Amino acid sequence: MNSAVEEIKSRINIVDLIGEYVRLSKAGANWRARCPFHNEKTPSFMVSEEKQIWHCFGCGKGGDVFGFLMEQEGLEFKEALKILADKAGIQLQRYDGKAADDKNKIMEILELATKFYEKQLWDGAGKGKIMEYLRQRGLKNETIKDFRLGYAPAGWRNLLNFLLGKEYEIEEIAKTGLLVQKETNNPQPTTHNQAVSNYYDRFRDRIIFPVADVMGKVVGFSARVAPGGDESQAKYVNTPETVAYHKSKILYGIDKAKQEIKSRDFTVLVEGNLDVIASHQAGIKNTVAVSGTALTSDQLEILKRYSDSVKMFFDADPAGEGAAKKSILLAFEKGFNAEVVDIGEGKDAAELAAKDPAKLIASVEKAIPAMEYFFNKSFAKYDSRKAEGKKKIAGEILNAVSFMENEVEKSHWIKNLAGKLEVAEKSILDTLKKIKSGARENYAGEKEVPGGESGPALSRSEMIRDKITGLMLADRLVWKKVLEYNSDDIINFLKNDELFRIIFEKGRELDFEFGKLTEEYRNSEIDKKAQRLFFEAKYQFDAREGVKENELRDGWLLAEHYIKELEKEICRGKLKMIERDIKKAEEEGDKNAAVYLMREFSKITKDLENN
Ligand SMILES: [Zn+2]
Repeated sequence: MNSAVEEIKSRINIVDLIGEYVRLSKAGANWRARCPFHNEKTPSFMVSEEKQIWHCFGCGKGGDVFGFLMEQEGLEFKEALKILADKAGIQLQRYDGKAADDKNKIMEILELATKFYEKQLWDGAGKGKIMEYLRQRGLKNETIKDFRLGYAPAGWRNLLNFLLGKEYEIEEIAKTGLLVQKETNNPQPTTHNQAVSNYYDRFRDRIIFPVADVMGKVVGFSARVAPGGDESQAKYVNTPETVAYHKSKILYGIDKAKQEIKSRDFTVLVEGNLDVIASHQAGIKNTVAVSGTALTSDQLEILKRYSDSVKMFFDADPAGEGAAKKSILLAFEKGFNAEVVDIGEGKDAAELAAKDPAKLIASVEKAIPAMEYFFNKSFAKYDSRKAEGKKKIAGEILNAVSFMENEVEKSHWIKNLAGKLEVAEKSILDTLKKIKSGARENYAGEKEVPGGESGPALSRSEMIRDKITGLMLADRLVWKKVLEYNSDDIINFLKNDELFRIIFEKGRELDFEFGKLTEEYRNSEIDKKAQRLFFEAKYQFDAREGVKENELRDGWLLAEHYIKELEKEICRGKLKMIERDIKKAEEEGDKNAAVYLMREFSKITKDLENN
């Protein structure tokens, strides 16, 4: 397995992999971003291209390509290994991690099901009326193929039989959410046939929209009732929650939209799957939709990896407006810059994309700040010339303002409101204070993760020791020189620390290579600490500017300085102990000892002064 791990690491550049999830910007020889794993405003997340590792100064997480994917996608090591091996085009030998195998099998079945549905659409029962419907909606063949649309034919066991024919167990197929289990009084089937007869296809006579994760792997489906089909059934049916499909963390179209979201620096959020597809076809490729839920904070976290601006489409009915308000407030709270796209009453993005794509693009460009949208709504609803109306308007607007993160923006809207209502700004501010302390409880704000590692505080000499260790890891010349350093006092103190002891004793064996060290101790505490100290040696964190690269022109000069500091610390420690011993000797009347100790004391004091 290890050779496969190294092979993968040599083929996949960590900057490319992480760049698929977060917006990296160049920082010296390396890259930085806002951490995808905790909420922060100033970037403290670093990627070292040279060492092929990453580290966050904010939450202390870090690792290599595998660690990143595991953290990002919530995977086990073996699952991450599989995905990266595929990406790198490497054949892995079969392994038997049970949980990973389970999920892989589910993904395998979902992929087969996707192909089955596609085939039904292009060559099977859906070829006529379904294709015609999709074309009527303005979709081109290319788009239909790209989004892998399909058709689930009418009948109870089409997909079930197809998958059984591929030699999957009924229990395995059931885990994908593709089947429905009958209500039965025979819950413990004794024969295979009985077990099979307990299930039937979830999707029947429906247009199938495969839903993919960020990596483009199908994790579930959204299925629309076929035109002329049984309209008494729900218009859309989705896969239930499974090991692979978590509704609140899925955004329809994200795999195809993420690059464009990054490069255009905003997301277009529409209502339905067809809106996403039609918008992509119209050239607005940074479009996604939530699928079967209201917008969640998990989904916003995903979007934030790529951009913190979002333009939202909403249905212009009361239900749509209610959803709009909730989504906007949640976005404010997550620090998003939110705008609202207005395409006029009674239309959806898909329709407009088909009829007049240029107009759709223009509407997105003309999106208005979400706060302006709230202003328009409130001022239309109440009479702003009357006292009662002013109060209602101020209440609504300020509630929204109280969700905003940015103080500059807040004060902009407060001034604006005061002006429009023709009241003093101070009274507006007073109202806002009341709202802050009372009314708004709906969305508990997320706290910033406090910086750094938790754990017992380090003494000054331990902090210096870590700095020296970090410099050794960042600069092999320093590593070598510390090995040759001639002071038992210092080296013995340093060797109390396990990481230092390892790099001191194994330096030559590891060719003074940081990569070889972390390879040998992969994912252990030693590895994590080595990576953290490495990054801390290379960078420093500044609350205003984020992470900055240290100027390490001469690492050894700096290391020597720290060693001198450490010598002083050790001397000071010794002096304290001698002082205590002198006191004790005097108390006991042991003059000889006291004299000897005092001589020692002045010798060390002199050393300390000369240093
Ligand atoms: Zn972090």
